[in-house]
Amino acid sequence: MTRKIILNEKSDTFQKLVEELSGEVITLCEQCGTCSGGCPFVDEMDIMPSQLMRKSMLGQEDVLDSQTVWLCATCNTCTVRCPRGLDVSKVAEALRQIILRKEIDNLKINDIPKEKLKDLPQIAIIAAMRKLTS
Ligand code: SF4
Ligand code: SF4
Repeated sequence: MTRKIILNEKSDTFQKLVEELSGEVITLCEQCGTCSGGCPFVDEMDIMPSQLMRKSMLGQEDVLDSQTVWLCATCNTCTVRCPRGLDVSKVAEALRQIILRKEIDNLKINDIPKEKLKDLPQIAIIAAMRKLTS
């Protein structure tokens, strides 16, 4: 998917924009893989959390096409284990923000069948809307 990323004076590269939005110095990542090894959702992800970090560091904007960006559950397992004290979930959140600010939603509520929707807990719907829609 092609997206025009809006950079600014302070964040004139994709890597800097991710750092600005996440508050994390992603270049500190030493690619040890500890985050990927402990992530409870890694089997569902298309790229591992350490790859998400690597791609962000290198300014590879195709990281935005990864489902990992949306699947990170902010459980913080990786954060407590990272030898560099990095918070991968904040990086995933920053990547989601870049997408959502382009008003590209990951969830289309109208696509969920009404019968299914009425069986879902309200809190789950609200949480999903807050995380997955602009
Ligand atoms: S645990 Fe930390 S240093 Fe290691 S790959 Fe993950 S983010 Fe990078
Ligand atoms: S915060 Fe995200 S990337 Fe880190 S372990 Fe939890 S689900 Fe995986």
